[in-house]
Amino acid sequence: MRSNVSEFRLEAAPTLEVTLALLSLGKHTPIAGGTELMVALSAGRLPQKHLLSINHLRELRFIEVTPTTITIGSGATFTDIRRNAVIASDFPLLSQAASWTGSIANQNRGTIGGNIVNASPAADSPPALLAYDATLTVISSSGTRTIPYTGFHLSYKKTALRPEELLHSISIKRNFSGYKTYIRKVGARDAQAISKIALACLARTTEPAKPASGAVGDARLITDIRIGAASLRETPTRCTAAEQALLNQPLTPATLTTLIASARAALATEARPIDDIRSTAKYRAAVAANLLEEFLRNL
Ligand SMILES: Cc1cc2nc3c(=O)[nH]c(=O)nc-3n(C[C@H](O)[C@H](O)[C@H](O)COP(=O)(O)OP(=O)(O)OC[C@H]3O[C@@H](n4cnc5c(N)ncnc54)[C@H](O)[C@@H]3O)c2cc1C
Repeated sequence: MRSNVSEFRLEAAPTLEVTLALLSLGKHTPIAGGTELMVALSAGRLPQKHLLSINHLRELRFIEVTPTTITIGSGATFTDIRRNAVIASDFPLLSQAASWTGSIANQNRGTIGGNIVNASPAADSPPALLAYDATLTVISSSGTRTIPYTGFHLSYKKTALRPEELLHSISIKRNFSGYKTYIRKVGARDAQAISKIALACLARTTEPAKPASGAVGDARLITDIRIGAASLRETPTRCTAAEQALLNQPLTPATLTTLIASARAALATEARPIDDIRSTAKYRAAVAANLLEEFLRNL
């Protein structure tokens, strides 16, 4: 049943400071682009009646680049992210995720903050942010704190954010040059689809050993590996068991088959997908393992 909009109240404060003061009263729900909340409202599934707009706050819509770090304001839209040259060059997983989030209209309106705080296990930006080890800065009228993104999602749709807090920004260190990247979203269609399963992966390997005294040395060691997944568990997740199975392992044509088998087996131990209208748990687990194998073969 559709909501009766006269039961809802929308406020907008002139500054971030006043917004935080209102949030500290504990009555309001922030609304950024509204691409999640307005769908819920329209479907009669929005229990929160007091909405506080943060969409107009310039303090939250920025992308700041330093030589070592990028900081993305929670109010940055997917279009802002998709168009940013540093994100495209240094963080291709995030750039790609932004470009396949919904339609162009969604990308113009939907924010990265809304995508994270909405906490859907199927959302597009979390696997990339998990792989890049992003750090979240959250603010309230009583101060600022930082949370590693790997510790933000506590259980299904439950996060470490307190009701009086806003997600301010997302920071990522610019130290992924030389990493191999892989990202793939499997949905019902190529465009405008929520993922059935998605993987965002990063890996660093040593250079192949230089052939010495006639020996052909092509062994490379996997010295860092990060695998972020959507729809593999009840929250966006890092696949730490699969990462551990691959870390410090030699990567050669001879070891590849064994390596893939052990990575697939490790992933199976941590995959807990759900059955829902988009897909079955069995399909999700099988396709996640296939994507992991594709990543390793590309590596
Ligand atoms: C047609 C359609 C297609 C879509 N396709 C995709 C898709 O392919 N992939 C995908 O991942 N998503 C998709 N979405 C979902 C949605 O567009 C994204 O999740 C978007 O990023 C939400 O951002 P928003 O600013 O609109 O969030 P809002 O709806 O404004 O808010 C979402 C939640 O986050 C909270 N919130 C927002 N900002 C903050 C903040 N700074 N601090 C604290 N809390 C905050 C709100 O209180 C609310 O609980 C789609 C939605 C629609 C309608």
